[in-house]
Amino acid sequence: MGRMVIRINHAPRPSDGKAYEFYPPWSQGAGLLEPSLLKALEDVVGPDNMTTEPVELLCYARDASENFGKPDVIVWPRTTEQVSAVLKLANEYKVPVTPRGAGTCLSGGPVPAKGGILMVMTRMDRILDIDVANMLALVEPGVVWQDLNNALEPYGLFLPPDPASGAVCTIGGCIAEDAGGMRAVKYGTFRDWVQALEVVLPTGEVIWTGSRTRKCVSGYDLVHLFVGSEGTLGVITKALLRLFPKPKYALVMSAFAKDLRDAGRAVFYVLTRGLTPSAAEIMDKHTLRAVSEFTGAELPDCEAMLIFEFDGYTLSDVRARLREAKKLCEATNLKVRVAESEAEASEIWELRRAASPALARLRPSSIHEDVTVPVSKLPDMLERIGKISREFGMLIATFGHAGDGNLHPVILFDERDPEEARRARLAARELAKAALELGGTLTGEHGIGLSKAPFFTLEHSRTEVEVMRAIKKALDPNGIMNPGKIWEAGP
Ligand SMILES: Cc1cc2nc3c(=O)[nH]c(=O)nc-3n(C[C@H](O)[C@H](O)[C@H](O)COP(=O)(O)OP(=O)(O)OC[C@H]3O[C@@H](n4cnc5c(N)ncnc54)[C@H](O)[C@@H]3O)c2cc1C
Repeated sequence: MGRMVIRINHAPRPSDGKAYEFYPPWSQGAGLLEPSLLKALEDVVGPDNMTTEPVELLCYARDASENFGKPDVIVWPRTTEQVSAVLKLANEYKVPVTPRGAGTCLSGGPVPAKGGILMVMTRMDRILDIDVANMLALVEPGVVWQDLNNALEPYGLFLPPDPASGAVCTIGGCIAEDAGGMRAVKYGTFRDWVQALEVVLPTGEVIWTGSRTRKCVSGYDLVHLFVGSEGTLGVITKALLRLFPKPKYALVMSAFAKDLRDAGRAVFYVLTRGLTPSAAEIMDKHTLRAVSEFTGAELPDCEAMLIFEFDGYTLSDVRARLREAKKLCEATNLKVRVAESEAEASEIWELRRAASPALARLRPSSIHEDVTVPVSKLPDMLERIGKISREFGMLIATFGHAGDGNLHPVILFDERDPEEARRARLAARELAKAALELGGTLTGEHGIGLSKAPFFTLEHSRTEVEVMRAIKKALDPNGIMNPGKIWEAGP
């Protein structure tokens, strides 16, 4: 066959060219798929589950990051068989396919960088089974995180990793990004809760991998190869997820630090004493100022605010751990406020949830970083962020999951100013380098996607990248699955 029918428009984004020097070319959705392919796709999914309407294509050209790439056609499959048939066609015509859930990704993962077919999984949204005795749930990938947790509530069970986008993001997207959230410090990320998967490989073949049993050492662990693979190795069409009994009690306290290093130390002490907080969050002074203006809340003058949550099954245990943490924080010079009621606890969480929207009001553009360092290096990373902010003359506000060393420094700027945009990109690179120098990683939960691809080889050796390429080649010989991501867009 060998028909290459996608024309990729390599034009840079409109306002300038230079500012995007780290970034790959953007697909403009040339709309040149062969009519025979479009007809075949329509035969597979039906006319109601497919579109080439320019307005729709534009709406699906972005995720929640700064990236852009227009698909040529969008399909919404409803069954595994349809996913398989679409991938077989894509292979035959050698056309890129990008899977997408709710599009809340913060690194460009579901953005079709090279155009082609965008496969939106939101119509495969059934909860197929809740196995209470074995604490397992079998779901389709388009199930929304919150809907699953609502369905689990009557059984006293829950799926612990809790991305802040949970009200809209899908299980498929969470698995593909290995999403975390505030509770990752105690419960881990999605990786720890996926037990088996049905995956349609890029060739269209369907595999079921993993086991219904908790333990399984039967062959290579393919399940965890797909977790965090950002839609580049196949399309997840079913997931068997582990569940956990929902804790009965949760107590919350906030702690204010005059010195960033004290804040970092307090987190370290609470964790190393084995007090197992279910959340240990941080907001720096820039974030707090923005949150205070946004919500009207009066907050003490300080360098950082920590929020700790402790959950459990008996009140005495939860209280004892909170009391111990309070003592540790006070001994580290922090001023502590314990929430005395559920309403007070919700008010504290409202402040944390306001961080992103409050910062978004400060400047027209932002880069959301996701650097992660060993917890003992948290004070150093916070210091490095301050230094980079001063060096590049950029406002960088930081909040995040201090308990697992996962910080979200947000670089705030105006992309209409090419010079400022250039400095913002350079500051992002310096943040990446700082995290790596401290023994950390580029991303704790948002993935590499397009945004961090230019930095990928700072973290991974040539040999490691070659191993990844070999795996990709074995599963996706024609390179049709979400091309342009992870390392492909890098230098
Ligand atoms: C306000 C906000 C808060 C956020 N908070 C958090 C947070 O606390 N923690 C966190 O980890 N993330 C967070 N995120 C990032 C994002 O929400 C998560 O990564 C989420 O898991 C993405 O799910 P989605 O359904 O939107 O997937 P999408 O954004 O649509 O896709 C994400 C990736 O998954 C791939 N994909 C989607 N479905 C499939 C499938 N069925 N098979 C194979 N690949 C697939 C896509 O190709 C893409 O690479 C946040 C985002 C926003 C906007």
